[in-house]
Amino acid sequence: MMSIDCPALPSVSPWSAGTIRALTLDLDDTLWPVGPTLVRAERLLHDWLRAQAPATAAAFGVERMLALRQDVARRRPDLAHDLTELRRITLREALAACGEDVALADPAFDVFFAARQQVTWYEDVAEALERLGRRFVLFGLTNGNAELGATGLSAHLAGSVGARECGVAKPDARIFHAACARLGLAPAQVLHVGDDWALDVVGARRAGLHSAWVRRPDAAHRPGPADGRPDDEHAAGHLTVADLRVLAERLGA
Ligand SMILES: [Mg+2]
Repeated sequence: MMSIDCPALPSVSPWSAGTIRALTLDLDDTLWPVGPTLVRAERLLHDWLRAQAPATAAAFGVERMLALRQDVARRRPDLAHDLTELRRITLREALAACGEDVALADPAFDVFFAARQQVTWYEDVAEALERLGRRFVLFGLTNGNAELGATGLSAHLAGSVGARECGVAKPDARIFHAACARLGLAPAQVLHVGDDWALDVVGARRAGLHSAWVRRPDAAHRPGPADGRPDDEHAAGHLTVADLRVLAERLGA
């Protein structure tokens, strides 16, 4: 396992499942693997550009488009929470650099965006959401731009808060508090569930929420604390689970 230099978990009050009223759920890489979806969406976008903006497609393969997007992100830290706008700006700059119609950036983005919603849930997710949803209010909390309706989550989640609408991204405490406000609950009544140690676990804890770190076997290479200590922190408000089925069991759902 890779390790990252991460702070000790801020302490929150001990909890039992009975004190938890709602779960906020990270989406990408918690409910579905986002990598294959993004690879496919980038490819479909490139195919669309080849037909509609051939000079741009020829000059900007997937790799070079990614490099440009990273450059845009460096120049526009004010948009770090808004992946949609970063992608639109990137497309406009690529089209402009190739002398093609920058207005094509919007329909081009739409092609990417539609494909980006076509996710395949991890196999444990559907049943686990059923079980968890009978006991807790479930709510989405994402830095990405997945949409509940298009990804099949509308039936399970009461709503969601995204970094784009909130104006800040995880691990900023304000996005966690925005979710709690929408739920009408105090942070101590909410357990946040996510795959990213720094964004989901440390972020949630700093905001006063409880936390569950979903550490799927196929993603065990992802950064986490060097000592793996959070497995022992149930009593202090933290769970580490291999998937959502285990989470449902641990929460008695
Ligand atoms: Mg995630």
